[in-house]
Amino acid sequence: MNPYHESDHTQMLQDTLSRFMEKEMPNEHVQEWDRECHFPEDIHKKLAELGLMGITVDEKYGGSGRDIQTTIAVIEALCGRSLAVGGMYIQSACYAGLNIAEVGSERQKEELLPKVVSEGLILAYGFSEPDVGADLASVRTTAKRNGDTLIINGSKRFCSGAKHADYIYTLVRTGPEEDRYKNLSIVLVPPDSTGVTLTQQETLGLKGGGTFDVSFDDVEVPIENLVGEAEGWNRGWPMLVGPGLDIEKIEVAGMALGIAAAAVNEAWAYSQDRIQFGRPICHFQSVRHALADVQTRLHACRLMTYHSASLLDRNATASLETSMTKLFVSDEAKDIVLKCQEILGAYGYVKDFNMERLVRDILAMPILGGSSAIQKNNICNLMKLPK
Ligand SMILES: Cc1cc2nc3c(=O)[nH]c(=O)nc-3n(C[C@H](O)[C@H](O)[C@H](O)COP(=O)(O)OP(=O)(O)OC[C@H]3O[C@@H](n4cnc5c(N)ncnc54)[C@H](O)[C@@H]3O)c2cc1C
Repeated sequence: MNPYHESDHTQMLQDTLSRFMEKEMPNEHVQEWDRECHFPEDIHKKLAELGLMGITVDEKYGGSGRDIQTTIAVIEALCGRSLAVGGMYIQSACYAGLNIAEVGSERQKEELLPKVVSEGLILAYGFSEPDVGADLASVRTTAKRNGDTLIINGSKRFCSGAKHADYIYTLVRTGPEEDRYKNLSIVLVPPDSTGVTLTQQETLGLKGGGTFDVSFDDVEVPIENLVGEAEGWNRGWPMLVGPGLDIEKIEVAGMALGIAAAAVNEAWAYSQDRIQFGRPICHFQSVRHALADVQTRLHACRLMTYHSASLLDRNATASLETSMTKLFVSDEAKDIVLKCQEILGAYGYVKDFNMERLVRDILAMPILGGSSAIQKNNICNLMKLPK
């Protein structure tokens, strides 16, 4: 829960969401979605009906106005229950809602943003490639102009939710490779286009929407699918590293926070139920201290996450704070979950409890959205440490 900003509107939305999750996302379904790598599309549509996609979208396009703190509160709550739902919520409300608003052409905003609000339109990020991880300026997937169309060739990797997306938000090279940052563009590619092949990757966690290898073989899309249209040509890099990147860092922090909070709640409850040596294990000092420790660290993570969100709501410059938040929260959340797993002993290692899923999911957080090492680079660079 956001310690900085509890408006009546946010509180009402959180109450509605809690009741919704109780009814529509019972634990046995959550476990099944994870086991079967299933994205519950009906739940996603219902979240749109509740108005939850619209909280990133301006009223002009049918939303209730961009509210980053409330968006993070929704991400925290959903990801604490199920990443199959929470991950795809982010891909709609944030990947689609926030990016199109920030860098789309007016025509693209008018066409796509109302669909984010009413149907939960989904974007999948097609940035990483087999040989391209952190160094995104090296992408090799190309788009060439051919009259009124773009022809795309190449391959992407780790494209989360690609199978369920309306469009893959594809980072492509639109000029010579040596120009690196200067000739990248972003194209919206429907995953069911002729020439697109999706192959699901096996992952440890983040199961629901799945993550995919994508190959593009002479895929043709209309020139209108260039993000930003005429102004978007060779403008992919500034689009990628704009304010949207700061928000993406705290989206991951919000996910990590939700997972860590779920682990703390499970360990807290378990410690009171599990009897050893004739008493609940929460009577033992080592367990009590471990629980005090994880609650305190969780509180620190929450303060940082919502503080960053509050800066973004004020449109303040927050690249430094969001990098610190992404670094601290994803690393701390990982340690918190592993500590909670220890409290459950053997039961933290079997599927009867949520803990083993939470462990699998949390391990991705320091990797996604710019790894911890990349955030450390950002922090030193932003603070102008000579190199
Ligand atoms: C479950 C999952 C879902 C994902 N979903 C998506 C998605 O939807 N779309 C998408 O495009 N990508 C996605 N990714 C990819 C993710 O964004 C990349 O993993 C990330 O960009 C890092 O790339 P890499 O893993 O190839 O690591 P690399 O860049 O190869 O780095 C390997 C190691 O070297 C370190 N390193 C690299 N460069 C530096 C440097 N300059 N300084 C210090 N250390 C450095 C890294 O921190 C890391 O420890 C996903 C990944 C996972 C695991």
